[in-house]
Formats: sequence, structure tokens, C-alpha cells
Amino acid sequence: MLIVKPHDNNLKLRVISSVFIVSIMLLSTTISSSNPQQIYQGSDPCDSISELQFNATKANQSVSWQTSLGYRLPGSDASAELRQSITENLTEWSFTESSHQRANFTLTNLVGTYSPENTTGQNVIFVAHYDSRYIADRDDNESKRNQPILGANDGASGVAVLIELGRIIPSLQINHDVTLFFTDAEDQGQPYKANTWSYGADAWVSNLTNDYQTNISAYIVIDMIGDIYLDFTRVTSTSDRLWETITPIAAALGMIDGELDCDGNNGQDIYNPDPNDARGVIDDHVAAHNAGIPAINLIDINYGENAPSFGGHWHTQNDTADKVSSQSLNYIGSILEIGLRTSAWTLVNEISNEESVNNTGNINSNSDNSADLDDVAKSDLIGYLAIIIVSTVLLLILIADISLKR
Ligand SMILES: [Zn+2]
Repeated sequence: MLIVKPHDNNLKLRVISSVFIVSIMLLSTTISSSNPQQIYQGSDPCDSISELQFNATKANQSVSWQTSLGYRLPGSDASAELRQSITENLTEWSFTESSHQRANFTLTNLVGTYSPENTTGQNVIFVAHYDSRYIADRDDNESKRNQPILGANDGASGVAVLIELGRIIPSLQINHDVTLFFTDAEDQGQPYKANTWSYGADAWVSNLTNDYQTNISAYIVIDMIGDIYLDFTRVTSTSDRLWETITPIAAALGMIDGELDCDGNNGQDIYNPDPNDARGVIDDHVAAHNAGIPAINLIDINYGENAPSFGGHWHTQNDTADKVSSQSLNYIGSILEIGLRTSAWTLVNEISNEESVNNTGNINSNSDNSADLDDVAKSDLIGYLAIIIVSTVLLLILIADISLKR
């Protein structure tokens, strides 16, 4: 047992604890410099706005065609016909279907993957539900409330945008994977019962492997985006960092009031990027967000002219193809196409130097960035040296202490 004088103990304790705190601080600096945070890359949306290929007329035709199939209820012939059409038309994609038993039906998720030869392995996922709702429970006409809806906006609009993106993506020369996720049984829920919605997205998220999940850089849901009177805000249970990638693209397209578009004109009030105005929505983004996947949802919950939130044509017999416009589909399709063209959803390591994120789409493409990487290596070295010095000082204190006691 060691006996130390109280005064000595106090002083020594202070010295040793100070040294300890300093060494912990240096250690954490070293650790953070060797594991830089990942940020979204992205380049100027206006550089690619003239190259857009998204064909909104085709997307709008798809909305009409989908509603002509009838009600796309889980397990229905219409549902199977829609899946078959998607897989037969997007020949450069590889598709898998997975079925799950939920409530009183069998749902089928459809997942298409496009993986270019030079893929980095990062995976951007676009999500839309392809089922239509089994009841028009918000219809003004009580006698219609137990009948299904056609879901032109609520279902078909998002699917139409995904199909059109699927057609053009193989020609965009991107260097990462893209997944088109057509979820089933999003819209078969019961009012005020949160766990009866989004069964398909839930089932998919709960069956992900760690490796697959790690590679997902963005999970972007689109739902009810065909309204002629398009306007949307952020929604809750989503990634702020991912929303921030949408703002410059929407501004470039003239969708934000108070921001200039690429031609220098003030934008329209279509997208409100203010985080304080985020709305609570239960949809296919929730399960992914809860699993730690960066997720957002582009959704217009005011369906129809001057419609209040969750009012208008939402979940009524009026959700028909004539309420959807190709112009609105074009806005959303263009956001997603520009995002891909500008690598908006590709993650890169954050480097302290402001020049780290350039517009070329490749962090190793010029000498400035090599210098940045050298800086990281240097700061690592400084951290290690600091630890060696602190350890030496601690050792000297111990040696001095032992000598004093002799
Ligand atoms: Zn719905």
C-alpha cells in the first residue's frame, strides 16, 4: 500500500488530471482527422439543366395507363400487370420481387437495380408506392367511402416518374448504383393507426443486410407529386442533410420563391425549404429513417386548388388522371435527374480545406485535392506525435515521483 501526503496528492492529482485531459483531447483530434465525416458532393445544377432528358409527356401517359388498369390493390391482377410492364420495359435493369404476408393480404415489393461497370458501390434509391388505396375514406360522398380509388396522384404519379427515370438513367453516365423501389401496401392503412401503413417499405427495411444498408447514400421517396397545383414542404422523420441537397436544385428549376433560377428569374412558390415548416407525414420514408438510412420524402399533401393539408382530392374518388399535370411531374423528374447528373447524392469524405468539394465529380482529379489529402495525412502525424510527447511527459512525472520518494 502506498501512503502519500494529502498536499502532495492534491497537486499531483491536478497535474496528472490536466495531462490526462490534454491527451484525451489530442487523441480525439487524431481520431476525428483519421475518420473524416462524409458529405454530399454535388455540383452546380445550372451546368446540366440544358441536358435534361426526363420526358414528362411519357410520364403523364403512364399515369393514365396505370389508372386504366383499375385498382392496384395488393394481390390483384392489376397490380401484377403493372409490375410485369415495369420489368418488361426497363430492360437494362435487374429486378427482384419479394412477397410478404401482412394483415389480410400478400404484398409484393418490386426492386430494380442499375449498376454501371464503373460503380463506386454507393446506392441512390428512389422509392414510390405502386398500390392504390382500397377505400375513398375522405370522400365527401358517404356512399363512395367504402370503394377503392384510382390513385392517379396517390400512387401512379410517383411510379410514372420512376419508370421514366428508369428509361433515361442508363444513358446518364453515372458512377454509382441506382435502385428503383416500387413499394406495395403503402396505402392500405387504417385512419389513425400508424403501424398499418407502409407495410412494403417496412418489410424491405427489416430484411436489409448490413453491407447493403451501408452502401445506401440516399433514399428518396416521391409520393403525390403530380398535382396540377404542386406545392410541398419538408416532412418530419427525414434527413436534414439530404434536404439540403434538394434546395439548390429546386432553386435552379425556379421552384423556390425568393431564389433566382438559372435564367436569373425569381422562382415560384412550389417548394418551401424552411425546416421549421416541416409537416408530419407517415409514409415509406419512416422505416428507412428509423433504421438510420438518410431518407427524405417529396410529397404534396395539399392535393387540388387551395386544398388544405390532407384535404382536397386526397383519398377520394376524385384522385383521377385529369388532376395530374405533366408540368408537375416534370419538376420532380427534373429534380431527380439533375441530382444524378450533379452527383448530389454521392458521399465524399469531408476535408477541412474549403476547396475539397469541387465541381468535377472526382475528388482525386486535380492537384488541389491531392494537397488536401496530404493535409489530412499531416494532421494524423501531428496527432500521433502529440500522443508520444504526452506519454513521455507522463512517464517523466512518474519517474520524478519515484525519485522523490527514495
Ligand atoms: Zn395515400
